[in-house]
Amino acid sequence: TALLDGQYAVITGAASKRGLGLATARLFAKHGATIAILDLDQDAAKAAAAELGKNHIGMACNVIDHDGVRQMMDALIQKWGRVDILVNNAGITQPLKIMDISAKNYEDVLDVNLRGTLYCSQAVIPTMRENKSGSIVNMSSVSAQRGGGIFGGPHYSAAKAGVLGLTKAMARELAPDNIRVNAICPGFIATDITAGKLTNDMQSSINAGIPMGRPGTADEVAGCALFLASDLSAYVTGSEVDVNGGSLIH
Ligand code: NAD
Repeated sequence: TALLDGQYAVITGAASKRGLGLATARLFAKHGATIAILDLDQDAAKAAAAELGKNHIGMACNVIDHDGVRQMMDALIQKWGRVDILVNNAGITQPLKIMDISAKNYEDVLDVNLRGTLYCSQAVIPTMRENKSGSIVNMSSVSAQRGGGIFGGPHYSAAKAGVLGLTKAMARELAPDNIRVNAICPGFIATDITAGKLTNDMQSSINAGIPMGRPGTADEVAGCALFLASDLSAYVTGSEVDVNGGSLIH
């Protein structure tokens, strides 16, 4: 059955071929949603949207560009009449040690992961408020919960922990308007974010820390996003959902 029939969803950072965003877009489309993919590269965003079928839209958008984000969302709301679902998935990471984080590293990682999540949410909250309905899903990370230890540096952990705080504060403030806000904390999922950057030693030590003994797949994260976006989770807000093969059992 289609869980998102007739719904309109915006997914950021969803042009990456093996990424969590595109896997989520595919599953949402399969469940009846119309999708807009926002990503840095226009051609990649359009190609990803075309792969989903007709009616889906791909647009170039840098999530840290406040006015650009607003323009894109306004254009979508003009076209669709509303936005029901936002998945703040765009993110970058850098494997740095604490003393090696430069001002530029800090800005880049904090901005895309955290500022981008804020700006994209601000751009859809008015239409969701008008409709008294909406679901916002933010990609955090197990790195936020356990202080890294997988790939990203301390600035990435801080940004993703910031996403958790923002998620909970937005959930609290937006609950009276029936807008739910939740975070997904993926563990290690094999995508291009780490592709070619992990040594065999790093990979085996990561696997050793996962009770299920293997990395996750993008589809396994998408399933959780579908749950949080749809009415299956109608009474779930302000939560952080672990999708990590047991990496954080405590
Ligand atoms: P990915 O690198 O495959 O995809 C990230 C996408 O974000 C890319 O398409 C990229 O172009 C886009 N992007 C980057 N900066 C952007 C910006 N300023 N504006 C718009 N788009 C931008 O990565 P992924 O593994 O699919 O990661 C998706 C999300 O999940 C990220 O937020 C990441 O931090 C998070 N995450 C991933 C893992 C993992 O193991 N793969 C684990 C935990 C969390």
